[in-house]
Amino acid sequence: MNLPKDEGGVAQRVMAWQAVHGRMHLPWQQTRDPYRVWLSEIMLQQTQVATVLGYYARFLERFPDVRALAQAPCDEVMGLWSGLGYYSRARNLHRCAQQVVAEHGGAFPGSAEALARLPGIGRSTAGAIAAFCFSERVPILDANVRRVLTRLLGFEKDPASAGSARLLWTFAGSLLPTQDLGNAMPRYTQGLMDLGASVCTPRAPACGACPLDASCVAFRNGAPERYPVPARRPSRRSESWQLLVLRDAQGRVWLERRPGTGIWAGMHCVPVFRDSASLGAYVSSLGDAAQLARQELQAFLHVLTHRDLHLHPVVISGDIADRPSDAGQWLGADGWPGVGLPAPIRKLLDATQLPLPG
Ligand code: SF4
Repeated sequence: MNLPKDEGGVAQRVMAWQAVHGRMHLPWQQTRDPYRVWLSEIMLQQTQVATVLGYYARFLERFPDVRALAQAPCDEVMGLWSGLGYYSRARNLHRCAQQVVAEHGGAFPGSAEALARLPGIGRSTAGAIAAFCFSERVPILDANVRRVLTRLLGFEKDPASAGSARLLWTFAGSLLPTQDLGNAMPRYTQGLMDLGASVCTPRAPACGACPLDASCVAFRNGAPERYPVPARRPSRRSESWQLLVLRDAQGRVWLERRPGTGIWAGMHCVPVFRDSASLGAYVSSLGDAAQLARQELQAFLHVLTHRDLHLHPVVISGDIADRPSDAGQWLGADGWPGVGLPAPIRKLLDATQLPLPG
């Protein structure tokens, strides 16, 4: 595919539009501090601005700089992240802070190339941090910008393929501002993000209000919503999990840490079993199962990106004196808000604090 030449001054039009219509008062726009910009960029991946605002403020209050974050226990970071989802972001956030302190003396490196070598910072995030903080002339290509560019081009290929990604990165690079980069790069980068978020939306894009309509193939063809063409996705899988809410005589719940990879990796969770027989065998191993009360709660569905989890909670309560294993701990309602729990497990534990039906 031959990429068109940018003869229409896309960057100029995006910047002029951003100066009038773009977002200018978000808390992470008032700074060129890479720590704050990085934190906002990681939080904004897959998450709406309105949701991020509260988390961003709480994180900065507790971790005002990269050293404070690096020194914090991972559990505390996961606890503060709880509810934002995509928890690998929080684990990488913590690892990245530690690496910035250990290898860069607490200062984020000043180029997109070096930033992209840090944990959890992909090429687009690295580009955004470098453009906002250092005015480096580098492109971004997050989901919103990919949508704008595929529409500008009328791009007919699967944008997720490696060949398409190469083409789109090249196109993104060809549109960058060429002058006054100190001001232009932050404004242009913000402008592209804002355009994707507020005008060139997935459904019903507002082409009449778009500064790029004269250059846009999808608009000319009258079918902007066709782009980006759907990526070939792996088929969804469905799994059934038995969740054991083990409650001792003091009302504390037994929580174990999940393995380091896979679903909810590294987070705290109640014990998980693939079937009720293995759950039953585990409960028997705790002692005289007849002495323990058993309550089956309503099963519920938790939807992940590529998987449906059908969760079946069982509450077993009674006088359990011993530690069920070396891999966990008893925590009460005053203790579990401080550790990283997946959102459905947090809700489940909150619900089991209420008197159980029947
Ligand atoms: Fe998106 Fe419409 Fe603008 Fe094209 S003209 S970039 S489809 S909003």
